[in-house]
Amino acid sequence: MPLTALTLLFVSLLLADICVRLWLASRQIRHVARHRDQVPPEFAPRIGLASHQRAADYTVARMRLGMLERVYDAVILVALTLLGGLQAIDLLVAQVTSHDLLRQLLLLGSVALLLGLLGLPFTLWRQFRLEARFGFNRMTPGLFAADLAKGLVVALLLGTPLAAAILWLMAEAGALWWLWAWGLWTLFNLLLLFIYPTFIAPLFNKFTPLTDPELAGRIKQLAQRCGFALNGLFVMDGSRRSAHGNAYFTGFGKARRIVFFDTLLARLNPDEIEAVLAHELGHFAKRHIIKRIALSFGAALLFFAVLGWLAQQPWFYEGLGVLPRLDGRNDAMALLLFFLAIPVFTFMLTPVASWYSRRDEFEADRYAATQSSPDRLVSALVKLYDDNAATLTPDPVHSAFYDSHPPAAVRIRHLTQAA
Ligand SMILES: [Zn+2]
Repeated sequence: MPLTALTLLFVSLLLADICVRLWLASRQIRHVARHRDQVPPEFAPRIGLASHQRAADYTVARMRLGMLERVYDAVILVALTLLGGLQAIDLLVAQVTSHDLLRQLLLLGSVALLLGLLGLPFTLWRQFRLEARFGFNRMTPGLFAADLAKGLVVALLLGTPLAAAILWLMAEAGALWWLWAWGLWTLFNLLLLFIYPTFIAPLFNKFTPLTDPELAGRIKQLAQRCGFALNGLFVMDGSRRSAHGNAYFTGFGKARRIVFFDTLLARLNPDEIEAVLAHELGHFAKRHIIKRIALSFGAALLFFAVLGWLAQQPWFYEGLGVLPRLDGRNDAMALLLFFLAIPVFTFMLTPVASWYSRRDEFEADRYAATQSSPDRLVSALVKLYDDNAATLTPDPVHSAFYDSHPPAAVRIRHLTQAA
């Protein structure tokens, strides 16, 4: 293995990634444990000590599992790249077929399957041990297996044509293949946004129209006040899998709908549901959703351009543990190396993305405060923090680095000031 500058950079960034993650996680664990014995005064009237301690234990348990998983993932990453895993799989696959496109599709498929299998122990432990221990798991092993099988079929049906088309472009479209591939990627994702709510989500969950006439009436009024053209209000049987509650918007244009988890409706009263929805409508009214989609397409363009350049550099393969083959195309290998390695290079941008997301959350909260009422949103949030065992006392540094939503106390302070 030639020890190139890329190898050194990759290894140093991966080590920095692990150190920062473990350091942040241990800060979070210490901070939460230190505040375990007292409910913060601003929450004391509404959240009991037992609940607060359960949230602390849940947070600590998830952090510990996450630390272990990060180290495990890093070992897999190094085994696949620098230790020659991908190279070995490529050689094996080449014995099955010498057809360039088939061989490369088989390579992508085998690695995807391997990564899925290697991730399974953590997924199973999280669902059937950790979530179960805190009373959140509602999933049966049968349902888990059915989800897995369906997910695999959907991934094969959608992923194979996309991968084949991108590999074909890489081989045939000349120096600007990456621009064509980006166009295809963008179209594919737009298509997903349209077909997900109507074709894919119903494979996994049952969606029934919201029947409660009083609640539906209030939601329609709210949507009208906010200028949101609504094409359906649905309840999803989220309780089949988990006790965590949620609500979301999905689809575009005529397919636009609001989906409530049944677990959320069971817990919040109509006032609180209206406030939560007003927050979600805030994301829509302030164009957060469309901005985020545009940003992701812009980032994809940058990634494809970089990949277009890297795929032609022998040191890109060698530096990440693969000898490029001379008797066939290396496009699938370039894709694999790129998508495996890129998170290591972008990890340090996490706090920027988190900060940007929290800014949007404050804005959506302000919107909800004017369209509904701050008190109702606070009351809904406190119930949701309590139900989801979300910690009320996160470590400020950990939170600033990762959290897409502001810490509970800060968020509620802002809302109370709005009131
Ligand atoms: Zn939000």
